[in-house]
Amino acid sequence: PAAAALPKADAMRFPAFDVNAVRRDFPILAERVHGKPLIWFDNAATTQKPQAVIDRLAQFYAHENSNIHRAAHELAARATDAYEGARSKVARFIGAASPDEVIFVRGATEAINLVAKTWGRQNIGEGDEIIVSLLEHHANIVPWQQLAAETGAKIRAIPVDDKGQLLLGEYQRLLNDRTKLVAVTQVSNALGTVTPVAEIVELAHRAGAKALVDGAQSVSHMRVNVQAIDADFFVFSGHKVFAPTGIGVVYGKRDILEATPPWQGGGNMIADVTFERTLYQGVPNKFEAGTGNIADAVGLGAAIDYVERVGIEAIARYEHDLLAYATQGLLTVPGLRLIGTADHKASVASFVLDGYRTEDVGRALNEEGIAVRSGHHCAQPILRRFGLEATVRPSLAFYNTCEEVDALIRVLHRLARGKG
Ligand code: PLP
Repeated sequence: PAAAALPKADAMRFPAFDVNAVRRDFPILAERVHGKPLIWFDNAATTQKPQAVIDRLAQFYAHENSNIHRAAHELAARATDAYEGARSKVARFIGAASPDEVIFVRGATEAINLVAKTWGRQNIGEGDEIIVSLLEHHANIVPWQQLAAETGAKIRAIPVDDKGQLLLGEYQRLLNDRTKLVAVTQVSNALGTVTPVAEIVELAHRAGAKALVDGAQSVSHMRVNVQAIDADFFVFSGHKVFAPTGIGVVYGKRDILEATPPWQGGGNMIADVTFERTLYQGVPNKFEAGTGNIADAVGLGAAIDYVERVGIEAIARYEHDLLAYATQGLLTVPGLRLIGTADHKASVASFVLDGYRTEDVGRALNEEGIAVRSGHHCAQPILRRFGLEATVRPSLAFYNTCEEVDALIRVLHRLARGKG
């Protein structure tokens, strides 16, 4: 959707989406901060949890808690069913061909490290090239730098235009027969840019490279289908999609995962151990050494059920209109410079305000109960592309409202008038 399609503020009625009903599902949204109702605009950092997820965790610990060895006893069977049920929900949610392609990890960071330390070490060598983009979170830069330092591979970065959109022509020029991997984010956590991942993956494949898509900022805002994207790897964090912290996902195509060695060794991932050799389990178990985060995986399953009940398409439509409304409002604030004005954005509206340090804006907003991030958002290369070390970053979710946006804009107008 182009910026020209921005709705007028007075047309914002969102008839198809009952935001007050979904807000009642999130107990923390009734919290007060400094005597004001909490306004949670830090969704890119982490999302709040619906009661359904909180209840599911309590249910697990009250009635199902066990390690996951199905055959051992009744509770082991319940815990195993709940954990594997969550894996199936994740597979359906992201359009994987099979639950076996879903590996549970701690989060997107661990997910990317897993791919770098297994598939990366096996397939990337001296003189090979890894393409990332300027938009990447440090989690999709540093593991590749570590791999490059280990192997003698090189990192290349796709540049962006002044709106924060990837320059696909430049990307095509970077691709060559030494390119082994293209690792790009689907949504920039710092600017909100939505990248054309299907096209990026197709070009990578044409060059003979594999592609990893960082979905940490996309899965909560849009329908994702890993098979339609044709990603070889896709990663995300549960806590950014209304699930608990400490749980995340690596999706990998089955044939690639089968050919990839495990990372950590230990229990759960083995088929047979002698002192002479160890035989590993098949996928996904060979990548899940030790006791995993069972309850929080089950919580992730509940979060996905919740999102699907609300409807990810309805969420995407509502948030699109809300972001357009917020963008329009921000642009009325004198001295405010929006950073990242891509034609296709999700959730994030990064900005700087003349005469104020970003942390001072964050502090002034906090006093009004409004939570935003100010800082580098773990994405220093993209901020430096715009000559900045930090921005103020409100980031929206489907439980945010026009009234909350109005409250944000009111404080910014007050600051702009010099009454900070
Ligand atoms: N990738 C992107 C685009 C992110 O926004 C984040 C978190 O902010 C991460 C990766 C890392 O996620 P986590 O800290 O949950 O591992």
